Amino acid sequence: MSLHFDDIRQAAARIAGHAHRTPVLTSRTANTVTGAELFFKCENFQRVGAFKFRGAYNALSRFTPEQRKAGVVTYSSGNHAQATALAAQLLGIPATIVMPHDAPQTKVTATKDYGAQVLGYDRYTEDREAIGRELAQARGMTLIQPYDHPDVICGQGTAALELFEEVGQLDVLLVCLGGGGLLAGSALAASGMAPQCDVIGVEPEAGDDGRQSLRAGRIVHIPVPDTIADGAKVTHIGEHNFAVIRQHVKDIITVSDAQLADTMRFFASRMKMVVEPTGCLGAAAALHGAYPVKGKRVGVIVSGGNVDLPVMAQLFAG
Ligand SMILES: *Cc1c(COP(=O)(O)O)cnc(C)c1O
Repeated sequence: MSLHFDDIRQAAARIAGHAHRTPVLTSRTANTVTGAELFFKCENFQRVGAFKFRGAYNALSRFTPEQRKAGVVTYSSGNHAQATALAAQLLGIPATIVMPHDAPQTKVTATKDYGAQVLGYDRYTEDREAIGRELAQARGMTLIQPYDHPDVICGQGTAALELFEEVGQLDVLLVCLGGGGLLAGSALAASGMAPQCDVIGVEPEAGDDGRQSLRAGRIVHIPVPDTIADGAKVTHIGEHNFAVIRQHVKDIITVSDAQLADTMRFFASRMKMVVEPTGCLGAAAALHGAYPVKGKRVGVIVSGGNVDLPVMAQLFAG
């Protein structure tokens, strides 16, 4: 199934009134440092604190009455878990979420608080996709993958759609990259709203499977990467995602964990907001020169703000 700009529009209509239309913020300091005009789309202010609510709500709102009754199952290291749990609660759908034992505590607690059943697994020795598939089969539930799902991709694309609607044409759009739901959706939004805009995926240095995949022309698998960007700790990008990314994304680049921590400090001290390490990927690329932006109008998706306070304190001290 091939996805198009119109699918993003339809997702936007489905989530309207349920997801927040998040603010677009600017920073004179960021513009001075980069010599560019930066527009930050702040999904750290989205419901559940990340863009993932968009994709989850879009996917679950399309369930048939039978699917709603049997429930949804998914696996996630964090934000997709919370997003699915809240979307399911709002739509009256039972939810089962498979989460790694080492997921940030705030994310596990929030997921349970939204009424979902949480099952733990070991991300280094167990295959979460197999666990999810088996649960779906055994209990008749519908599996909604965190990124490799057309409805999830299209929901995620509505953040970039709103950004273009608000600020008009952009030369560059910098997008955080884990499994590729946000990047594929953003690229589809750009294809309709700003076909000249260069859409760039940004992933952690330690987990550059996306860059490798784009270069190789096939999905490259890597071991679980060691990075503070826990939302991008994926071993490979998804198939639906890769199909869109190959067609609509100009390049994929990387930033270091030190640059992510520095960008977290920038957001806190200059823009007075909490952004989680993974949410800093796009901004770090602009602020640290990983992608040339001088003289350009640049959109930056700030993807989320869920970080345990002790972890944040440590990163701030560093
Ligand atoms: C999930 C997530 C990402 C990565 O999104 P993908 O769709 O998997 O590429 C980036 N930032 C945050 C905050 C996330 O929760």
